[in-house]
Amino acid sequence: MDIKRILQKHGFYFKKAYGQNFLTDEFLLDDIVTSAGITKEDTVIEIGCGAGTLTRAIAKHAGKVIGYEIDTKLTGILDEMLSDFDNVEIVFEDIMKQNIAEIEKNFSAGYYVVANLPYYITTPILMKFLEESKYVKGLVVTVQKEVALRLSAKENTADYGAITAMINLVGDAYLIKHIGREQFLPPPSVDSAVVKIVLNRDKFKLKSVETYREMVKIAFGNRRKTLCNNLMNSLKIARAQAEDILTSCDIDLLARGETLSAEKFVILSDYVYELRRKNG
Ligand code: SAH
Repeated sequence: MDIKRILQKHGFYFKKAYGQNFLTDEFLLDDIVTSAGITKEDTVIEIGCGAGTLTRAIAKHAGKVIGYEIDTKLTGILDEMLSDFDNVEIVFEDIMKQNIAEIEKNFSAGYYVVANLPYYITTPILMKFLEESKYVKGLVVTVQKEVALRLSAKENTADYGAITAMINLVGDAYLIKHIGREQFLPPPSVDSAVVKIVLNRDKFKLKSVETYREMVKIAFGNRRKTLCNNLMNSLKIARAQAEDILTSCDIDLLARGETLSAEKFVILSDYVYELRRKNG
């Protein structure tokens, strides 16, 4: 498949603003889909189809593919690239403007997201699916290497951050493959990696997602401060009260946000939630 020639034939030019960096190596693309564990039983949503190279690889393995692409200039190219497949539907829409519940009406049996994401909106896209989706079973996404390290980080490391704590609440993330910048057309200024996020919504029983999100935000609000100081500043409470909360949750008074596992964040947010309920 000579992508360059097809793009040229259709007079296509790359738009940086849309994060257009295409993957062309068929072995690599196949490898990504295989690592997602996609079978003919599965429905896959792809975000940002580009020239449809990954879309083709997904379509070979999956039962059905629904691809979202913002750039209508790719219409002719996608038509040509996907003409051998009858299990692909392309929707020319901005994924960020879609209502996930609406998309999921037909996929309540579960589906996967497989994508080489547009990097300028990696986090918003992931958060949208993690927070709004009821039926996504897993996401296999190519992202900037630094983001991949963040997503799959363990607590107590510099890479562990708010997004890690949000992912770990509903699942687990694994870095499964590094992809050098030279693999993309055109090559971006960063290296990439493939991350697999496996959803497990029953992992924790949580009283309030809002409070969890709030605690994560507070804990990473100022990484150089202790969690105790961040709680005092954000909740506008006295040191004694912040210390009381931490002691009740069995969290070290000198701990920083990045030392808290999702399990600890659940304990902390449930405690604060109950405290507020009791105090009215
Ligand atoms: N999957 C292709 C292209 C990846 S580049 C490949 O691997 O080769 C990212 C793609 O996302 C681009 O085609 C870009 O136009 C598209 N895109 C960017 N923002 C988008 C949005 N908000 N909604 C849907 N697609 C978007």
